[in-house]
Amino acid sequence: MTLKAVTPADASPIGAFEETPPRDVDALYQNSHQAWQTWAGYSLERRLSYLKRLRHIIVELQEEIADIISMSTGKTKTDALTTEVMAAADAIRHVEKEAPSILINEKVKTPIQFMGKSSYINRKPRGTVLLLSPWNFPFQLAAAPLAEALASGNTVILKPSEVTPMVGELLRRLMALFPEHVVQVVMGGKELGEALTAGKPDYIHFTGSVSTGKKIQQQAANDLIPTTLELGGKDAMIIFNDARLSRAAKAAVWGAFHHSGQVCLSIERVYVQSGIYHQFLTEVKRETAKLQQGQSEDADIGAVTTTAQYNHVKNQVQEALDQGAVLEAGKAPGDWDTANMFIEPVLLTNVHSDMSVMKEETFGPVMPILSFDTEEEAVQLANTTSYGLGGSVFTTDIGKAERITSQIRTGNMNINDVMTSAANFQLPFGGVKNSGIGKYHGKEGLRNFSIETAVMADRGTDEQEIIWYPNAGKYHLLKELITSFWGRQRNWKSFIQAYMRLSKF
Ligand code: NAD
Repeated sequence: MTLKAVTPADASPIGAFEETPPRDVDALYQNSHQAWQTWAGYSLERRLSYLKRLRHIIVELQEEIADIISMSTGKTKTDALTTEVMAAADAIRHVEKEAPSILINEKVKTPIQFMGKSSYINRKPRGTVLLLSPWNFPFQLAAAPLAEALASGNTVILKPSEVTPMVGELLRRLMALFPEHVVQVVMGGKELGEALTAGKPDYIHFTGSVSTGKKIQQQAANDLIPTTLELGGKDAMIIFNDARLSRAAKAAVWGAFHHSGQVCLSIERVYVQSGIYHQFLTEVKRETAKLQQGQSEDADIGAVTTTAQYNHVKNQVQEALDQGAVLEAGKAPGDWDTANMFIEPVLLTNVHSDMSVMKEETFGPVMPILSFDTEEEAVQLANTTSYGLGGSVFTTDIGKAERITSQIRTGNMNINDVMTSAANFQLPFGGVKNSGIGKYHGKEGLRNFSIETAVMADRGTDEQEIIWYPNAGKYHLLKELITSFWGRQRNWKSFIQAYMRLSKF
């Protein structure tokens, strides 16, 4: 079987790649397990030296990589350079820098009743990590979790999306710099993904749609395989009367239309306070009108990646128009040029919360705009969907921004900016509600890819512990110990006396 790569701009085939048959899954896991015995035994410095080489190669090949990504996804070359190549290089650099302090034993306090002991968290690799990645950021969303998983001492089976096989092939070529079978890149779609999930990896890191995420979680539950699920979103942008209007308008346009809106953290709903609603709309229309569509270095917006995505966006926009939405920019779906995959950015007003364009992920260049009056209303509107990935608030009152941020139920937020919280690898990234389970980036990434063993250590020189047998004669002393330390009035003298007597049994 082969996978066909197509150019989204004209949807014609540009290459074919050999698909990995699901029957190979057992051998893949065996190879991975064998490679793990060596890789996990390497020092962290040695593992990081491989990642450093990978980063250098990515930077040296940045143009070729950006070309392949642009051709495969329809995004502009500049977008491919910034939110794919630069983001991947920065993710790897973050791991190189932070892993030594995150992966060493972490000392924690030991409570007084265990005096004389020490406590720490020991981290070690999980084994084989299965990475299942999507087509919208086929490079970055493979490279970032891969770097964390490898630094933590795991081996990886990576299945990139079947929609972007040329990027899969590129990743396969790049991974050849690691020792054999440390990273196995496989090509295939849903069937292969299912077989790999059923193949009992030690950890699954999945990025993709909510429906696939739920299936993976169900399969993983059979074997209690831990997972991170990075799923879809319906992010709200809230703009208050006191926001810097021109900045908010530019941010909304970039946040909603970057990569034709095919970003999990895209601005999918804009809520504008009524006092500036009309000026904001005028400003957003002006900014939208300036955008250039195409795939050259200077283009602002490329094409959508798949026909399925094109049709999904088309249906959602048509449904909104049928239900009374007003088209402020872009074309009505009936006038879209179906000869290619470019969708002109769409601005919609007169929308309401029951429309699917306001409830379900659009994943296209569509910005629905709704006005609100009060802070409470803005929070309530932002929290209405089943998703909880990200969001943003625009106001020059930072106290208000923080108040709103603390009430929005999402895993990520930006204040007076959009989407960039995910680009700071010091911050953990992940969604809540239907947007996912778990986190990566930040300290959490390296930690999640590790088994954490809680260790309490004793020098082993004393005969025994105060709570070991026998119990006879200890009951009242233990009560005194508890009351003197954890009761209303701390009494050190009673505590020490009770402790000393207990330790003589
Ligand atoms: P998808 O769920 O269709 O596919 C994702 C990956 O899973 C692909 O590699 C695919 O082959 C594989 N897969 C499909 N069915 C499978 C199954 N039953 N078992 C195992 N693997 C299976 O998602 P997509 O269309 O590639 O990506 C778009 C979605 O990803 C959007 O919803 C978007 O919001 C989401 N996304 C989320 C984030 C995030 O970080 N939260 C980032 C990017 C994209």
